[in-house]
Amino acid sequence: MARAYNFNAGPATLPEEVLLKAQKEFLDFEGSHMSVMELSHRSKEYSKVHDKASALLRELMEIPPDYEILFLQGGASLQFSMVPMNLLDRNHGASYILTGSWSEKALKEAKKVGPVEIAASTKESGYHAIPPLEDIHWKQETSYVHLTSNNTIYGTQWQEYPQTGQVPLIADMSSDILSKKIDVSRFGLIYAGAQKNLGPSGVTVVIIRKDLIKHDDSLPTMLSYETHANSKSLYNTPPTLAIYLLSLVLEWAKDQGGVSQIEKNNQQKAKLIYDAIDESNGFYTGHASLESRSHMNITFTLPSSELTEKFLQEAGDAGFIGLSGHRSVGGCRASIYNAVPVEHCLILAEFMKKFQKTNS
Ligand SMILES: *Cc1c(COP(=O)(O)O)cnc(C)c1O
Repeated sequence: MARAYNFNAGPATLPEEVLLKAQKEFLDFEGSHMSVMELSHRSKEYSKVHDKASALLRELMEIPPDYEILFLQGGASLQFSMVPMNLLDRNHGASYILTGSWSEKALKEAKKVGPVEIAASTKESGYHAIPPLEDIHWKQETSYVHLTSNNTIYGTQWQEYPQTGQVPLIADMSSDILSKKIDVSRFGLIYAGAQKNLGPSGVTVVIIRKDLIKHDDSLPTMLSYETHANSKSLYNTPPTLAIYLLSLVLEWAKDQGGVSQIEKNNQQKAKLIYDAIDESNGFYTGHASLESRSHMNITFTLPSSELTEKFLQEAGDAGFIGLSGHRSVGGCRASIYNAVPVEHCLILAEFMKKFQKTNS
């Protein structure tokens, strides 16, 4: 059976190899005569899955030993609250860089916890770019600086992160984690919902420097990083099926040649589609300014809303899934996360060129 040309923004396509392996093991996980979903989360068999997911993520992202890896629930959206609840010192506040709707949502939750300031924002120019590093300002004593590494909705991505020195840098990497090499030691905390690059929805990965894990009796137990760090993310029942699928995706990523090979594939994929935009003589217009272009979400429009409609209609008829832009911005968006094959990007680029030829 042929796989759909799935350009969904999230939940997104998963590697076919992962789905086939999960199918093969579905009824009988490693000779247990049980599905992985039916195992106790305290069993030896499940422990192996849980530990493997954590070890593979550490290996692939080269996460240093002084960082804890947590598997939580509540999506990246719950991290918008957990980050300030655990890390915002009310005497000093926290700093947020606004580059799109997700950073606005993160800011909104932080405001409920304590004072916040905006370190930089590209809202006025329609979020078409990441702010230049020299335009970002925070108070020396701020609790942390928060940014969104890839703006899923607007299609922009940080190419270089600010140097924050002693101030912890916190990143929502939901839509570009594991898509390129990063230096984890530059960050105090990284979080990501799994459903874009890591697996299915239902598990959220948090990578936190150990010295930032504090004891705070005033926090609800489930919302404290300390609780989950002290219990290896097994304080309560974790999303075992999602973590199992995460472990398979990480195995797949390693088989691909690890993050450096995945990064190369992603560059190639993005180039195919950006070239179709850039060589269209203005038929396709990219939303992001050149230096801020995302390698994960490519946003563009056509010369009129009628043509955009027609493009989406015909793309749908041709078997492309998920190419409408986010409901808040319109236009078109191709999300080309790690698991989207190069082949599918090539087919989309060809479709774009053909559509232009017959409609201009
Ligand atoms: C998808 C997304 C979120 C929301 O994730 P949930 O897991 O649905 O809460 C947050 N931030 C970014 C950058 C995203 O792409």
